[in-house]
Amino acid sequence: FGAIEKLEEGKKGVDVTQYHDVWVFAEQREGKLMGVSVELMGEGKKLANEIGCKLCAILCGENVDNLVDELFEYGADKVYYANDPELKTYNTDPYTKVVYKAIVKYKPEVVLLGATHVGRDLGPCLAVHCGTGLTADCTKLDIDPTDKKLMQTRPAFGGNLMATILCPNHRPQMSTVRPGVMEKPKREAGKKGELIKLNVEFKEGDIRAKVLEVVKGLTEKVSLTDAKVIVSGGAGLGNPEGFKLIKQLADRLGGVVGSSRAAVDAGWIDHSHQVGQTGTTVKPELYIACGISGAIQHLAGMQTSKTIVAINKNENAPIFEVADYGIVGDLYKVIPAILDALG
Ligand code: FAD
Repeated sequence: FGAIEKLEEGKKGVDVTQYHDVWVFAEQREGKLMGVSVELMGEGKKLANEIGCKLCAILCGENVDNLVDELFEYGADKVYYANDPELKTYNTDPYTKVVYKAIVKYKPEVVLLGATHVGRDLGPCLAVHCGTGLTADCTKLDIDPTDKKLMQTRPAFGGNLMATILCPNHRPQMSTVRPGVMEKPKREAGKKGELIKLNVEFKEGDIRAKVLEVVKGLTEKVSLTDAKVIVSGGAGLGNPEGFKLIKQLADRLGGVVGSSRAAVDAGWIDHSHQVGQTGTTVKPELYIACGISGAIQHLAGMQTSKTIVAINKNENAPIFEVADYGIVGDLYKVIPAILDALG
């Protein structure tokens, strides 16, 4: 859509007073809402209340009408719904076209997307077309109480500092937000709102690539974001075999196995297990870190867990600064003792 021209034009800024409402891109896969989209409904409501505007969701898919009600129940005042076979599975061109046209027509003040593979693809495409900025991978969102602008916070410089980014002269203010960081809102059964059906039309050449088939990964990936208990292993395991002991404890507690990046880099475990800045952000009820030093990039992904237990033989390891319970000792002695005690 003439992206470069848009960027040039965009440098001038826009009349920000024309833009209203907080939008959440309601990402669905196979007719199910992604967890991060539900989390964003909760966060979006908080932001909308602080700005004094409405919370809206934009939903794309084929015959996913049931999700409209779900979005109302999660707090949407309005749902913009695009229903078309071309939107059944995520595809950059049709999704960008539909959401971009809706943004141009309805002028949202804020647009939030999950930092999923889809959000990380769609968000930048939309930002370029709108001639606005995008703050990727946010971990915190606030509204400036004086001018009601969105303050978007994300880790920067390899996680060594947290940067708060503003988008003063362009609209919408756009962020992708990490899954697992925001609280899911309570669902209010029977709550209704306004449904706006979007007119979807694709011309010849609008869709440059077709999704022919969706092939699911052959290896089973862990779902760290939904896990209530995570037992993570790090370089302190000393070898890949150590993950057998970690798995034993995780299984005993009904949890899943996580890891530090050092263990992933060593080739001991798949990246899908990695917790942290370049892995998954998690917020389980219980997080047990075994042989993990507590580097800032690891902490960035787990420090909001409800209860943190750390097992490390170095009593000065930084992980103990965030731990609720710290056990100084050799994990190869401590974990078997815990398993024994659990029976
Ligand atoms: P180490 O720091 O080597 O710590 C091992 C710990 O095990 C030590 O504290 C030691 O005392 C303890 N130990 C040793 N033997 C035993 C034993 N027998 N029993 C008990 N304790 C023992 N890291 C992540 O984890 N996730 C990320 O997403 C991530 N992203 C990054 C992004 C960037 C841009 C950069 C620069 C780095 C990133 N890192 C990330 C790497 C991070 O900086 C650390 O290098 C990494 O977290 C260290 O992993 P570790 O704690 O397992 O290893």
